[in-house]
Amino acid sequence: SLHYTLSQSTKTSPCYHLSSSRKMASHIVGYPRMGPKRELKFALESFWDGKSSAEELEKVAADLRVSIWKQMADAGIKYIPSNTFAYYDQVLDTTAMLGAVPPRYNWSGDEIGFETYFSMARGNASVPAMEMTKWFDTNYHFIVPELGPDVKFSYASHKAVNEYKEAKSIGVDTVPVIIGPVTYLLLSKPAKGVEKTFPLLSLLDKILPIYKEVIAELKAAGASWIQFDEPTLVMDLESHQLEAFTKAYAELESSLSGLDVLIETYFADIPGDAFKTLTSLKGVTAFGFDLVRGTKTLNLIKSAFPSGKYLFAGVVDGRNIWANDLDASLVTLKSLEDIVAKDKLVVSTSCSLLHTAVDLVNEPKLDAEIKSWLAFAAQKVVEVNALATALTGQKDEAFFSANAAAQASRKSSPRVNNEAVQKAAAALKGSDHRRATNVTARLDAQQKKLNLPILPTTTIGSFPQTIELRRVRREYKAKKISEEEYVKSIKEEINKVVKLQEELDIDVLVHGEPERNDMVEYFGEQLSGFAFTANGWVQSYGSRCVKPPIIYGDVSRPKPMTVFWSTTAQSMTKRPMKGMLTGPVTILNWSFVRNDQPRFETCYQIALAIKDEVEDLEKAGITVIQIDEAALREGLPLRKAEHAFYLDWAVHSFRITNVGVQDTTQIHTHMCYSNFNDIIHSIIDMDADVITIENSRSDEKLLSVFREGVKYGAGIGPGVYDIHSPRIPSTEEIADRINKMLAVLETNILWVNPDCGLKTRKYTEVKPALQNMVAACKLLRSQL
Ligand code: GLN
Ligand code: ZN
Repeated sequence: SLHYTLSQSTKTSPCYHLSSSRKMASHIVGYPRMGPKRELKFALESFWDGKSSAEELEKVAADLRVSIWKQMADAGIKYIPSNTFAYYDQVLDTTAMLGAVPPRYNWSGDEIGFETYFSMARGNASVPAMEMTKWFDTNYHFIVPELGPDVKFSYASHKAVNEYKEAKSIGVDTVPVIIGPVTYLLLSKPAKGVEKTFPLLSLLDKILPIYKEVIAELKAAGASWIQFDEPTLVMDLESHQLEAFTKAYAELESSLSGLDVLIETYFADIPGDAFKTLTSLKGVTAFGFDLVRGTKTLNLIKSAFPSGKYLFAGVVDGRNIWANDLDASLVTLKSLEDIVAKDKLVVSTSCSLLHTAVDLVNEPKLDAEIKSWLAFAAQKVVEVNALATALTGQKDEAFFSANAAAQASRKSSPRVNNEAVQKAAAALKGSDHRRATNVTARLDAQQKKLNLPILPTTTIGSFPQTIELRRVRREYKAKKISEEEYVKSIKEEINKVVKLQEELDIDVLVHGEPERNDMVEYFGEQLSGFAFTANGWVQSYGSRCVKPPIIYGDVSRPKPMTVFWSTTAQSMTKRPMKGMLTGPVTILNWSFVRNDQPRFETCYQIALAIKDEVEDLEKAGITVIQIDEAALREGLPLRKAEHAFYLDWAVHSFRITNVGVQDTTQIHTHMCYSNFNDIIHSIIDMDADVITIENSRSDEKLLSVFREGVKYGAGIGPGVYDIHSPRIPSTEEIADRINKMLAVLETNILWVNPDCGLKTRKYTEVKPALQNMVAACKLLRSQL
């Protein structure tokens, strides 16, 4: 069950009663749950596999929570969060708290336990999981609540109270954190069968009674503070949505009396009207802001912060791995002392530390100088406290001067600065880069050379990564096998993939990417300016974590990265072999990016490095080159007002990579997810010759764009089958899909391909699926 039992180690741990007078005004919005070595991941997966018991999982979780609370208490943090732990996701925890379990899970109505909780998160043998979507513009994904007029809300998970008590039992008085009622509803979607236009905010009256129960119980347990996370306040909200905040907190006011109440916002500047609504809320005594991502919020605070309230100033970046510039933060904080009473100014993180790596102590192999520039969650906790202490006049001079020295070394280090790269990238801004000939003429020139049939077939790049293949890569990396042996194995693998594609009669081949662990890491490892961690994991969803590379310096490409493998593959076949690269925007969006220059500048630098590679591939005789931009859309800023600027430099960066090629060289790009209807004009503006896109789970959505009259003259390959599922699509089903596309798109621009790379599938699935794909294609060609 979700009721926690304290493990033995917890019970015997020392108490953490620090006298409150010693604690400076410091606060942490939230903390990573996975543990420094991903302990929670392994415990969860073992439990899901039936290899360990619920008690064992609960013990790992309890130990992690306790060690985090102790760590913050030891660091001197005054406002320590609780209930920021989650077995899967904090939004799902709120769904459990409210008893908003969709009927298909046959929940009994009792306190929600692991079975119901994990069924909602992951599905079970008979029912699929709830939908998952991105948490704002982070790479964290939450479980989307499904709500309708008939949901019977009830107080069904006492997790927030249990965690509060658990911390208290070891002597740590925490601030319980709960997702605020309005944000919860704004992140929900109407349940199946409920009208898409169902006003979710109309459920406010039904969920507030549960919030009141939780608040009452927290009070009874001794809580004196409570934190509601309401990050939707930074979005472009309509006035009726803002009014919901006013209404909700007015309704909660009497329940909250006697408590200090913090409303936490994060991830962007807060719009002026939302700031006004927020700071006028009844019953609220404290407001938290992201002062890292936002650059305008500081002015709002200075001009209109209400007197007598607490300001939680988020100056330590929760979204990145860089050490804070403590001197600069101190200046910001001091400038706020004129506005907020000294005892009401609290130093905080910009958002939950969930979005950064856990602890730098687990990086013994990282270069010492680079390491001095970094701070993971554990180090950020110390930074917050150092700033709070400095504000009281007891600055830790040694800590500050070490920090200043690291900042200075980062500014001047030759490993960061490459003047030639800086000049070249600076020259790109404000200019335009387009291939000289238009796409129609280019496609003609390419067709003369490539001589492809109508409805040409291709795949997205990767082929199944077998255990054997992973072993070869691992052993080569560990220097257990020689370069010669490694090259031989990879060549054999490529040859196998090439022969298979010829047998299947695919038109444009790929080499299968057997040499790549990951589409970003592979390039990062060969570019200068990138560093890699051993344990810098960040939760993506559930037990899944990613380990983003760190871009710390100017990016350049010392030597060709893919030319050897692509030309080797091309030498094995007469058919065109696609060169396969990851695009600059995707490399940027899937890395921790340096914060000492604008993102677009770093992106331009990467674009120039990829441009070198594109041109080397062309010189080596590769005539089709795919530049993947899988993550272009996910970099879209939260606020609409910022979309145009982002799309402008992102699309520009892509064009830079291939502006130098001949008309006869065919440039492909690929994107995951087809929900880019709103950015279709930017995609056209990328001016690729061919785009392949994930589509099969949302045919209609994508095609509707073209049905509505958007002109698309380049080649386009909407995926004809879902590669995320082991299911093998039939020939008829694929032919049916292609027919639907042909009804909307011109025959001569349509390509036929799967949704995405085949890396995670087995050959027993891939072979028959591709066979059916080619068969469907041939059937239609014969009918055209
Ligand atoms: N070329 C990559 C592959 O096929 C693309 C992966 C992706 O789009 N995520 O694996
Ligand atoms: Zn993809």
